[in-house]
Amino acid sequence: MGLTSSSVGSGAKNADGSLSRGENTRLIALAGNPNVGKSTLFNALTGMRQHTGNWPGKTVGSAYGTLRREGQNWIFADIPGTYSLMARSAEEAVARDLLLFGEADAVVVVCDATCLRRNLNLVLQILEICGDVIVCVNLLDEAARKGVSVNLEALSGLLGVPVLGMSAGRGSGIDALIPVLEQFKGVQPRSFCCSCEIERSIRPLIDYFDAYRPPLPPRWLAARVCEGDGSLMDSLHRHMGMDLDDEELCQARDAALSNLGELGIDSQRLSDISAQGISDSAGNICTQVISKIPRGTAREGKIDLLLTHKIWGWVAMLLLLAGALWLTISGANYPSQLLSRALFSLGDMLNSALTALGLPAWLTSLLCEGVYKTVAWVVAVMLPPMAIFFPLFTLMEDVGFLPRVAFNLDGFFKRCAACGKQSLTMCMGFGCNAAGVIGCRIIDSPRERLIAILTNSFVPCNGRFPTMIALITIFFAGNGAMSSIRSAVILTVLIVLGVAMTLACSKLLSCTILSGVPSSFTLELPPYRRPKVGEVIVRSIFDRTLFVLVRALKAAAPAGLIIWLLANVSLGGETILARCCELLDPAARLIGMDGAILLAFIVGIPANEIVIPVMLMCYLSGGSLMDYGSIAQLRGILLANGWSSVTALCVLIFSLMHWPCATTLMTIKKESGSLGYTVLAAALPTVCGIVLCALVNFAAHMLF
Ligand code: GDP
Repeated sequence: MGLTSSSVGSGAKNADGSLSRGENTRLIALAGNPNVGKSTLFNALTGMRQHTGNWPGKTVGSAYGTLRREGQNWIFADIPGTYSLMARSAEEAVARDLLLFGEADAVVVVCDATCLRRNLNLVLQILEICGDVIVCVNLLDEAARKGVSVNLEALSGLLGVPVLGMSAGRGSGIDALIPVLEQFKGVQPRSFCCSCEIERSIRPLIDYFDAYRPPLPPRWLAARVCEGDGSLMDSLHRHMGMDLDDEELCQARDAALSNLGELGIDSQRLSDISAQGISDSAGNICTQVISKIPRGTAREGKIDLLLTHKIWGWVAMLLLLAGALWLTISGANYPSQLLSRALFSLGDMLNSALTALGLPAWLTSLLCEGVYKTVAWVVAVMLPPMAIFFPLFTLMEDVGFLPRVAFNLDGFFKRCAACGKQSLTMCMGFGCNAAGVIGCRIIDSPRERLIAILTNSFVPCNGRFPTMIALITIFFAGNGAMSSIRSAVILTVLIVLGVAMTLACSKLLSCTILSGVPSSFTLELPPYRRPKVGEVIVRSIFDRTLFVLVRALKAAAPAGLIIWLLANVSLGGETILARCCELLDPAARLIGMDGAILLAFIVGIPANEIVIPVMLMCYLSGGSLMDYGSIAQLRGILLANGWSSVTALCVLIFSLMHWPCATTLMTIKKESGSLGYTVLAAALPTVCGIVLCALVNFAAHMLF
C-alpha cells in the first residue's frame, strides 16, 4: 500500500519547537495572497508585532501567536502569502504544505476586497481540499474609497462558508471573527474545475485513493498526481507517506493518463484546465457579488506612469532616496551630539562610582573605558539616524513605493540572469543586511537566491551610514547651508555605486559558479495605500530601530572588551593595538588607507559603527574609545594623521565594500547552509573594495 492516512504534521510549532498545541486549543491558519492584511489581522488577534508592509513576500516564514478567550485557547498561524496551491516559490510551498498538512482546525482566508477575483482563486483552491474555511474580506475601507462594494451575504451563499467583512488596518470587523470561529461547522470540500469527462478519466486513481481514506479529497489527489507537480509529489511523500512507485498507484495513474490521452489531455493541459476552471468560477462569483465601477484607479495609474517611467521613474526614485538621506543626515546631527555628551558624562559618573566602590583600577577602566564607552558610542552614533531613517523607509514601504523601485530595477536584474525580486531584498538590506539576507527567501530559484544572498552587503546598512556621513561631511560636503544637501547627494551616488556593483557581481556569479537562466515571475505592484504615520513611527522604532540597536549592542559590549585589551596589554613595550597597526600598515597603504584604518575595519566586524572610534583610539594611542566631540575635532585628528581626500574616498569605498558584519555572516551561513558560500559572501565585496581602492589610490598617485 502506498498511503497512510494518519501521518500529517505535528501541529503548531515555532521553528524552535517551543509552541505546541495543548488541550482545548484550536489551531487556525491565516492564509491569503501576499499583502492582503494577514499580518495585520494576526497582530490584532494575538497582540503580536509581526512585520507588516505594503509589498508581496515580506512574510518569509510562518509566525505563531496565541489568544485565550473564555477558557478556549487559540493558536493563529500567519502563513506566508501565496497566490495558489500550485506553489511556484519556496515560500509558496511552505504555505501550501501548511494548508495541506498543518492540521489546522480551520483556515481563515484573508482576501483583498479591492481585487477579489484574484483572491478568490486561492479561496476556491483551498475549498477544494478543506471545508473548514472562513473567508475574511479585508480592506473594505480601501474598496469603499475606490467605489467598490462587496455583497458579503451573497458571497457566503455562493461559497457555502461564512464570509466576514473587515478593515483590519483600522481594527474594524475583527471582533466578529472569534464568535464565528467558535460556532463554526465546516462543509465538505468540493471541486470547482473538473468536468464530468475528466472526472471519469481519472476515476481509476480516485478509486485507488478512496480505498485508503487519505486526509485529502481523493478527487483532488487524483488530479494532482496526473498533473505530476514534482514539489507537491515530494510533499505528499513526506507528509502522507505516499509511495509514488507503488505498483497499484502506478497502474491507476497510467490508466487515468491513458484515459485523459484519449481526450487529448496531457499533464500540462490538465493543469491548465484546472487553473482555468478555478479562474472562471472566481470570475463568475465576482460578477455576482461586486458592484460599482472602481474609481480613483485613473489617478493611481497616472502616478504609476510617472514612478515606473523609464526616465522620470529613475529621477523620482533618486530624488526620494536623496531626500530621505538628507532628512536623516540633517536631522541626526544634533541629537547625536546631545546623546553623545549625555552618555559620556554618565560614563564619567560611572567611573567615579566604581572607583569609590573600591574596584581595582584596571577593572574600572575595562568596564568604563572598554565596555561602557563602546556601547555608549554605538548608541549615540546609531540611534538618531536609525530613528529617522527606519520610519521614513517604512513609510515608503507602506505607501507602496518600494515595489515600484523593484519594478524599475527588474529589467537590470533579469539582464544579469538574476531574479527581479532581488531588488526587493536589496531594499531590505538598506535597513540591515542580515534582514536583507533572510528576505532572500522570497526568491524561489535556489541559484538566484544564492546570488541575492552573496551580493546583499553591497548596499550599505544603517550601521555603515554614520561613518560614511561623517567622512562625507568632513572631506566632501564643504560648509554652509547646502552642506547637508551635498552630503545627501554624495551618499546617494555611493549607494548607486553599491547597486551597480550588486548588478555587476550578480552578472559575474551568473556567468561563472552560479550559471543558469533567469526564472520568470510576475512582479506585483500593490495598490498605493495611505500610511498610518503614527503606527509606522511606533512600529519602526520598536520593531526595527530597537531590534537593530540591541543586536549591535550585543556585539559592541564584547567588542569593547577586546578593544580595551588590545589597547592596554603591551608586548615588548608596545600595545598589541599599536603592533597590529604597524603590521597592517604596508598592505593598507596600497589601498589608500593606513594600518589604523584597516585594523578598525577588522575590529569592527561585530558592529560596523565602531570603526571610527577604534581608528581614533589607534591614532591617539588612548586606552579606550575616543569621543571626537565635534566634526571639526574629528577633522583635526584625521588631518593630523595624514588623511587626504583620497584617503577619505578610499575609506568610503571600503565602507561600502568589505566583509559583512558578524550577524550578517551568521545569517548567511544559516540561510545558505554552506561555509563555502559564507566565505564567498565575505570575500566578494572585500575583493571588490580592495581592487577599487587600489585603483583610486593608483590614479591619485598618477594624477597628483
Ligand atoms: P500581509 O502581507 O497579507 O501580511 O499584509 P499586511 O498585514 O502586511 O498588510 C499589507 C498592508 O496593508 C500594510 O501596509 C497594512 O497596513 C495595510 N492594511 C492591512 N489591512 C488594512 C485595511 O483594512 N485597510 C487599509 N487601508 N490598509 C490595510
